[in-house]
Amino acid sequence: QTPIDRPARVLLKLSGEVFGGGAVGVDPDVVKDIAEQIAVAARSGVQIAVVIGGGNFFRGAQLQQKGMDRVRADYMGMLGIVMNCLALQDFLEKEDVDTRVQTAIAMGQVAEPYIPRRAIRHMEKGRVVIFGAGMGMPFFSTDTVAVQRALESRCDVVLVAKSGVDGVYTADPKLDPAATRIDELTYAEAVERDLKVLDQTAFALCAENKLPMVVFGMEGQGNIARALQGERIGTLVSP
Ligand code: UDP
Repeated sequence: QTPIDRPARVLLKLSGEVFGGGAVGVDPDVVKDIAEQIAVAARSGVQIAVVIGGGNFFRGAQLQQKGMDRVRADYMGMLGIVMNCLALQDFLEKEDVDTRVQTAIAMGQVAEPYIPRRAIRHMEKGRVVIFGAGMGMPFFSTDTVAVQRALESRCDVVLVAKSGVDGVYTADPKLDPAATRIDELTYAEAVERDLKVLDQTAFALCAENKLPMVVFGMEGQGNIARALQGERIGTLVSP
């Protein structure tokens, strides 16, 4: 719940795959659209932090299957994420939204280092903060990073934008045509019903710290802006 003395502060998790528009690299049209939606919400006064994945460049686990050392492959994954962050920053600034990228791996020429208290100050001043390079540590997913950053920067909710699915379903809708979308559930119910919402580490961190999560589909017109502004779309997973 948002304390009444400050505006809502939300963390938006975007998958890297979406940034690539289905290919390797960055699709400027997709990033532009996402930036325009974030800008709408930022102008309305919502404090916004963003975590982006890197699946459009490299996934450590996949490179490992092809023979690479996992640790080095994961670092490549994290560096890929930074390119997504810079692309989003560029389109946000074209919308006149002040944006700061903070990376978990130091790279002073392109971004600030991750300094949580400074990130909070940025948001209080109306700047969008993009957290890049994951956690700076191999073996983590950006879902886990999203939850960790949301907790540390005291966000009220983590908004998980999905592609190809618009919320949490009773079963995998790609495999089971009878699956239906769930509007609202608790963490305990998700565990009990064995619903895969995020990866286990991310889910556990969210549940343990009672951070509400909204899982929504980003394909609908303006869905990201709507979710950022607190409209109830997708599935709410609450403590
Ligand atoms: N990664 C990592 N540590 C982190 C975050 C990411 O090692 O804290 C690496 C990992 O190899 C991962 C890749 O970066 O596969 C891209 O992130 P992810 O797969 O989570 O991106 P998404 O699926 O959301 O596009």
